[in-house]
Amino acid sequence: MRRIQALLTLGLFFISCKQEVKDTVASNTTLTASTLALDNGKGILNNTNSPHVKFKSIDFGECQWTEGFWAEKFKTAETKMIPYMRSLLTGDKGHALNNFKIAAGLKEGEHKGMHWHDGDFYKFMEAIMYVYGQNKDENLRKEIDDYILIIGKAQKENGYLQTQIQLYADRKPYENRKYHEMYNSGHLLTSACIHYRITGQTNFLDIAIKHADLMYSLFMTDDSRYGRFGFNQTQIMGLVELYRTTKNKKYLDLAEQFINNRGKYEVKETPETKGYPIGDMVQERTPLRESDEAVGHAVLALYYYAGAADVYAETGEQALIDALDKLWMNVALKKMYVTGAVGQAHYGASTNRDKIEEGFINEYMMPNTTAYNETCANICNSMFSYRMLGLHGESKYADVMETVLYNSALSGINIEGDRYYYANPLRTVHGSRDYDKMNTEFPVRQDYLECFCCPPNLVRTIAQVSGWAYSKSENGIAVNLYGGNKLATTLNDGSSLKLKQETKYPWEGDVEITIEACRSDAFDILLRIPEWAEGSKIMINGKESEILATPGTYATLNRTWKANDTIRLDLPLAINFIEGHGRIEEVRNQVAIKRGPVVYCLESVDLPAESSILDVYIKGDTKQLKSDFHPDFLGGVSTISGEVLLRKEHNTDDAMYQKIEHPEWTTFKTTFIPYFTWSNRSNEETEMSVFLPVVWEQK
Ligand SMILES: [Zn+2]
Repeated sequence: MRRIQALLTLGLFFISCKQEVKDTVASNTTLTASTLALDNGKGILNNTNSPHVKFKSIDFGECQWTEGFWAEKFKTAETKMIPYMRSLLTGDKGHALNNFKIAAGLKEGEHKGMHWHDGDFYKFMEAIMYVYGQNKDENLRKEIDDYILIIGKAQKENGYLQTQIQLYADRKPYENRKYHEMYNSGHLLTSACIHYRITGQTNFLDIAIKHADLMYSLFMTDDSRYGRFGFNQTQIMGLVELYRTTKNKKYLDLAEQFINNRGKYEVKETPETKGYPIGDMVQERTPLRESDEAVGHAVLALYYYAGAADVYAETGEQALIDALDKLWMNVALKKMYVTGAVGQAHYGASTNRDKIEEGFINEYMMPNTTAYNETCANICNSMFSYRMLGLHGESKYADVMETVLYNSALSGINIEGDRYYYANPLRTVHGSRDYDKMNTEFPVRQDYLECFCCPPNLVRTIAQVSGWAYSKSENGIAVNLYGGNKLATTLNDGSSLKLKQETKYPWEGDVEITIEACRSDAFDILLRIPEWAEGSKIMINGKESEILATPGTYATLNRTWKANDTIRLDLPLAINFIEGHGRIEEVRNQVAIKRGPVVYCLESVDLPAESSILDVYIKGDTKQLKSDFHPDFLGGVSTISGEVLLRKEHNTDDAMYQKIEHPEWTTFKTTFIPYFTWSNRSNEETEMSVFLPVVWEQK
């Protein structure tokens, strides 16, 4: 380690890398945020001036949760998730801040954590900033300033900043894409832009600009060594946000370059790709503009598509949006679980016969027990959908965001906010998983994950949902997500709008919106009618409206609004059975229970001790199922109770196939819980299933 320190001190470490890196140093040092006319948009995506966006982000902080589901989740993020994560990442166990301190020369030691650990720390910082954006706790802003100081000291003079490279004597910058430099860079740029938007400070942004300028000098060249370098490509999203903040088009050009390069080069093993699968695994087999099937690692794919959607928002290139439309449809209609989760397999292959890890496999091939469904992938699915919502202004994208948020995102963290899951299967059965051979699947929730990408991704998402709740439409405001909140924003024409939303959604389906202040001439209020919400009704000022509340659309309420006008939306929360497409063999003759946006599951703690989840059959009658809200159970949820059939004898033979005769049955009254709350009531592995076989009664 001492040798590494010495190399760093002498600056020899970087000089030994490629010539282009050295050449950029002088030109990078002069450009800082203070010399630029920065854009003052404050959205999570600053698409205020993006020409091809229909639904624009509200400024972060304009929507504040006041009561109900998201207010409570935000509070848990503020009071438990972030403090706990802080103790991990700034301490020796998580070691993320230590890595920066060591690189900065402020501490002795070695790098610990995955190659992407820096990026995960930037995500944690982003989560803190979203909380600061809501509660304005100055201690949080100062905390971030302290981190920025350390990160700035860790950054090399030429802008390079990657502790997983800097702290190893035998690693050189941009030598092998498996070291996740692009991923760390992307989160650095995004986090710095969010920091500027929420605090108005440029100290983090200066670090990001210096870093992005180095990237530009290398990756805008035609050097084929860098042609396939993008790997987990969050840098595309980060560069577009940096373009939006600084208005410097070079960052948009570089973002586009990463898309243009993908699929351009021969897919073969090279020194730059060694150590990780190639081809479809990293979406380099087919150029994006020619793609119509989501392939490869699900997180890599969806960050890539999300970045491409950001580029389209600025360029309006038809070929790009045509491909993104096809890819979104492919994911949502052929590769997504009922929970919104994606990435069906830990190990598998693409239809082009490339090896795949943690990713997409065949269409409609949807295993339950071995489903991978990394929390990050599910979140990325909603991030991609949020961008597509912006581009098209269609409710189906917000439907996917909502499905992910209430189900396969929140399932990644326990109710208390300090235990995590990386994989999110739809069924667990004792003995069906060989945990010795698994590195990210666990029988119970974990207090720390060596691969820490998911926890900060989830916490920043929970902290930022208020920024997704509304969008500015062309002539008004769109309500994307329901929850008790207050909104004070400025519409596209510059007029101010204040309203409040009161609801117990998703446990109850009535939503009341009261206008508090608005412009005097007519404008639109768009209400998302979820695709499941048949029979929804809209009332304006106590009178039933003739405006159609068609499921799967935004209902457009255009009129002259005034203070104290009220809108009441009734979304019927029926308990529904959901079945899969006929091509999904894994759920044939099975149903899942869904009420509103919430998918339910059955967990073995709600079964007799001797029963297995495999013994349970659902009675084919939703009328005998009943929903009840329990304020003190699992953080406050509606459960569904009803009778199930239990098969008395079950297969205990090791034979793969065996004869069966008519089994005996008992009836058992049980409780279904929201899927996201499973694995919260036992310190041991429980069995759980979303889909269960159904016994229909003849009518
Ligand atoms: Zn992850």
